[in-house]
Amino acid sequence: MDSPDPTLIDQCVHCGFCLPTCPTYVLWGEEMDSPRGRIYLMAEGHDGEPLSDAMVTHFDRCLGCMACVTACPSGVQYDRLIEATRSQVERRFPRMRRERALRSLVFGLFPHPRRLRRLRPLLRAYQRSRLSLPLPSRVAAMQRLLPPLGPRVSVPSYTPARGVRRARVGMLLGCVQREFFGDVNAATVRVLTAEGCDVVAPEVQGCCGALSLHMGREDEALSFAKRLIATFEPLSVDAVVVNAAGCGSAMKDYGWLLRDEPDWAARAAAFAAKVRDVSEWLVELGPVAPRHPVPVTVAYHDACHLAHAQGVRSAPRELLAAIPGVELREIEEAAICCGSAGVYNIFQPEAAAELGARKAANVAATGADVLVTANPGCLMQIRQALADRGTPMRLAHTVEILDASLRAVDDTGKIVAS
Ligand code: SF4
Ligand code: SF4
Repeated sequence: MDSPDPTLIDQCVHCGFCLPTCPTYVLWGEEMDSPRGRIYLMAEGHDGEPLSDAMVTHFDRCLGCMACVTACPSGVQYDRLIEATRSQVERRFPRMRRERALRSLVFGLFPHPRRLRRLRPLLRAYQRSRLSLPLPSRVAAMQRLLPPLGPRVSVPSYTPARGVRRARVGMLLGCVQREFFGDVNAATVRVLTAEGCDVVAPEVQGCCGALSLHMGREDEALSFAKRLIATFEPLSVDAVVVNAAGCGSAMKDYGWLLRDEPDWAARAAAFAAKVRDVSEWLVELGPVAPRHPVPVTVAYHDACHLAHAQGVRSAPRELLAAIPGVELREIEEAAICCGSAGVYNIFQPEAAAELGARKAANVAATGADVLVTANPGCLMQIRQALADRGTPMRLAHTVEILDASLRAVDDTGKIVAS
């Protein structure tokens, strides 16, 4: 990837409209921890200023939430700028040994579903033992974020549509999603098939590369992207459906990412054009399966990589609001990130905890029964933050509420209609 494009840098007119939506600026009020300040630092770097510890700290503190992209009236493509900046930082900036070790641990594990699967029984046994081993603080932070692990739930590699077949879709299983949120994948398959989709979910499929991309590990991200394209290409699907916001946003960007590789550019663009968040796809398809009442109050949290990065805000709300019995409540400061941001809560635990507490307070203030969102990272982060403030709440993915409605059960699995 090239260095940040100076023409994109120059599009910033320093108006400051983005500042109130930037989580780090909201927390600390520091110019250099705002989008405008970071763009200023990028400009300095472009003018020859060498990367300093301070500059890298301000770039590292950015959550990549893209709230600034939504807020900017001048159309500044901060997403492209920070991606290129991070990639440059990874290439040029020597990190401390401890930081490198943590990166090796995270990137040796999270984008590898088979490794996560091997680790899962150990993590489950650890959770059930209620032991509290003295782990290094950031490893302990990782462990605390895990949802309570039950038996592993997997989905078949092919599930035919129920009733009249309306489409054939591929499904991304995800890495963390597949191993720690198998119920969400199972609910996604049930909803898609109930709405008339054949679902193809190849068992052998790798990471989409989102985490690597957002952390500046460009070569790794590109190689994950190519493998995923090659997996789905022969399946002849109408859409590739994704139920994790961070993954969907990276996959929609494959055309851009691989634009300079002649063997891949067209294939990547064709693949990206088929990628849909599951809520987007269901709204596009239109409902056919009957909805049963689910009497529950729902606070819907916009995952940043769904709302800001993909611009998908109305589809999940539309799906939820169409379920009889569901009362939808909005969360104050909806545009501000919960602090999850991929692996941000592992690398920047203090800032993530502050943002998590702020989000949890706003969620609790809704008085809702269930917090619903569309990203495994947000589910883990908000669950932990709600527990920390002593207001635990049920959490679910959008498709789990929809699934409960289609199956005539409430969101806890209890039958409420027939
Ligand atoms: S991506 Fe988010 S954290 Fe980073 S500068 Fe933009 S608003 Fe701030
Ligand atoms: S990024 Fe956009 S909103 Fe923020 S200061 Fe620059 S022009 Fe203004």
